[in-house]
Amino acid sequence: MQTMKQLSKSIGMTLNHEAVEAVEPDASMVDTGVGNRLRRRRSACIIGAGVSGLVAAKVFLSSGYEVFVAEKGPEIGGVWAPSKSYPGVRTQTPRDLYCFTDFPMPDSYPEWPTGHQVYQYLCNYARHFGVMPKIHLNTDVRRLSRLKAGDGWEVELSNGGNVHVHNFDVVVICSGRFSSPKRLALPGSEDFKAAGGVIVHSSEYLSNDQAKGKDVVVLGYSKSATDLAMEALAAKARSVTVIYREATWKLPYFFGNLVNFKNILYCRASEAMFMPWSPSAVGRFLRKLFAPFNLGELARPGGASRVAV
Ligand SMILES: Cc1cc2nc3c(=O)[nH]c(=O)nc-3n(C[C@H](O)[C@H](O)[C@H](O)COP(=O)(O)OP(=O)(O)OC[C@H]3O[C@@H](n4cnc5c(N)ncnc54)[C@H](O)[C@@H]3O)c2cc1C
Repeated sequence: MQTMKQLSKSIGMTLNHEAVEAVEPDASMVDTGVGNRLRRRRSACIIGAGVSGLVAAKVFLSSGYEVFVAEKGPEIGGVWAPSKSYPGVRTQTPRDLYCFTDFPMPDSYPEWPTGHQVYQYLCNYARHFGVMPKIHLNTDVRRLSRLKAGDGWEVELSNGGNVHVHNFDVVVICSGRFSSPKRLALPGSEDFKAAGGVIVHSSEYLSNDQAKGKDVVVLGYSKSATDLAMEALAAKARSVTVIYREATWKLPYFFGNLVNFKNILYCRASEAMFMPWSPSAVGRFLRKLFAPFNLGELARPGGASRVAV
């Protein structure tokens, strides 16, 4: 079993990461202030360096923990990492609602920052709060095992083919809801690819050259799908077709090119339109009555639909 210092070093050597933690020999001991007795500093392993992992690391650091952030990808930022972002991606949430409360986005940022701006912002956040040196890129957490009650977790980390096992007092899972592409196994897709067709997940659409001059079919009708349909159009695709199972109402950034949607969506009246877990009969009736403003029922079930744009 390696100490945290040895683990950081052995993983750091294979990373070429600007900021591998330099742990002092006595860094795991803290002065309790009571008769100068020293006790071991508690350790936390944070899985993932997206928005959630970064803020978790910051909080554990400020609470005096030794922090080790394992990020399986080559960059921080999670869904905002440049290696996963399609061109033209922007937040849906306005800038001042998508920032950490103790670290505002720069005034120069637009109301809906681009993916790259969010990535830069997250890098600055990690640097500002001293999280960056704790992050270990290309480091995949492959297994967690509970140690005997109260003793924390054994964590198996894989980095560039090297496997390390280390014990932590706390493990925080910040692995993200959208960090693994959902791939479809569709009959005929192998033949389609053999004939020269290309199938990519939205996180693999990294350049508009991928759509230029092509007949593009977008599967799905949520944010990434509609963004990518627009991107493909802008990229001068020969045709763009959107195929989806469930229609959803789309909210524009501005209603009537005038009213910012945040002034309509983020208020108590619209919150009341979200379907609660157990709606009453009256609540259900009101939500039906006020559809399509009923945000809990915007998605309508139905057969596959097709929109050519
Ligand atoms: C295109 C797009 C636009 C979005 N826009 C908005 C928006 O405007 N507003 C909003 O509120 N939300 C938006 N979201 C939702 C977004 O997912 C969250 O806002 C937030 O970024 C999620 O952060 P996260 O840290 O929880 O997860 P992620 O960003 O997914 O980060 C998880 C990280 O964990 C890493 N990881 C996973 N498993 C392991 C493992 N075993 N070992 C090591 N590392 C691991 C992943 O590599 C990843 O870097 C958007 C999502 C997408 C995809």
